[in-house]
Amino acid sequence: ITDLLAEKAAARERLLASKGNVQVGKEKASLVMLVRNRELKDALTAMKQIEDRFNRNYHYPWTFLNDEPFTEEFRNHTTRMASGATEYGLIPEKEWSMPEWISEDKFQETTKWMSEKNVIYGDSRTYRHMCRYNSGFFWRHEALKKYDWYWRVEPSTSFYCDMNYDPFTFMRENNKKYSFVISLPEYRETIETLWSTTQEFAKLHPQYIAKDNSLGFITDDDASKGIEGTDYNNCHFWSNFEIADLNFWRGEAYTKYFDYLDKKGGFYYERWGDAPVHSVAAALFLPKDQIHFFSDVGYNHVPWGRCPADDESHDYARCMCPFEREESFDLHQWSCLKRWWKLHGKSWGVI
Ligand code: GDP
Ligand code: MN
Repeated sequence: ITDLLAEKAAARERLLASKGNVQVGKEKASLVMLVRNRELKDALTAMKQIEDRFNRNYHYPWTFLNDEPFTEEFRNHTTRMASGATEYGLIPEKEWSMPEWISEDKFQETTKWMSEKNVIYGDSRTYRHMCRYNSGFFWRHEALKKYDWYWRVEPSTSFYCDMNYDPFTFMRENNKKYSFVISLPEYRETIETLWSTTQEFAKLHPQYIAKDNSLGFITDDDASKGIEGTDYNNCHFWSNFEIADLNFWRGEAYTKYFDYLDKKGGFYYERWGDAPVHSVAAALFLPKDQIHFFSDVGYNHVPWGRCPADDESHDYARCMCPFEREESFDLHQWSCLKRWWKLHGKSWGVI
């Protein structure tokens, strides 16, 4: 028994020593997780599923980001769980704090009424730092500069199917820039002026609005008349899952959009989430064919889960969903997917 343990440990060491030169996947891509040290177990839960169902065949690197230094324990366990290289990035303080043009008093007023109205995370300062960071900064981190693609993974998420192909290659070859699995409406109180601010931006920079955009997904008004005169229906792609092109965020349209939003202060005076910010930008600045719905991904982030509706996914991708296909969030009254199908001229629930 002692020999067996020693052999296991030695095999593990050999694997660790080979990290960094075993990548099989051909893309400049990384799995990315923004996470706290205390979320280690939840991080490992999500990692294990992605490794078992996808990355053990590709060995893409993992990049972990944190506003505090990662502990030795966190590094050890996540490195052992990863089949690819691991890198640990510390977020610069300037990118995880209120900019100097934000008024602390005005921010306090917001947290006061939001906590009275029980708005989720309404009184949280760090949640706002997180939303602003995901909206405007993560791709600028030193650790991510070498990549073109990322797959955002959150602690505690579940993956119900195998991914038997390289999603980064798929995105590149099919000219996709952004993708999602679940879409739903945001709480209006948290983004009260996001749309009017976006309308102002669009008026100033009409050249950034893509011709064949997805305005019809994010408004229930007549989209043929353009952005002006429409209201936001609050639909957004749930950003706890994202596979996307980092160069979209690095591009001129998004950079200027983020700066414009940031100056308006809504990340602190309201509670603008990175999901609606990413979604509105992707919907307006990209032609609709550059946004991909991963209909073959089974996924859960509390409180919602969805499962592929097609037989092939279940036959070939070993989907194991803890609910019937009809109970998938796709078919829930709060899902925004029906608008997505409509935009693409498909009928409800085809794929
Ligand atoms: P929710 O999904 O909107 O309920 O928000 P989460 O609590 O899941 O946060 C979103 C992501 O940001 C997750 O990956 C968290 O681990 C991460 N996160 C949230 N707050 C912090 C924080 O203060 N520090 C760090 N390092 N990560 C955070
Ligand atoms: Mn989450």
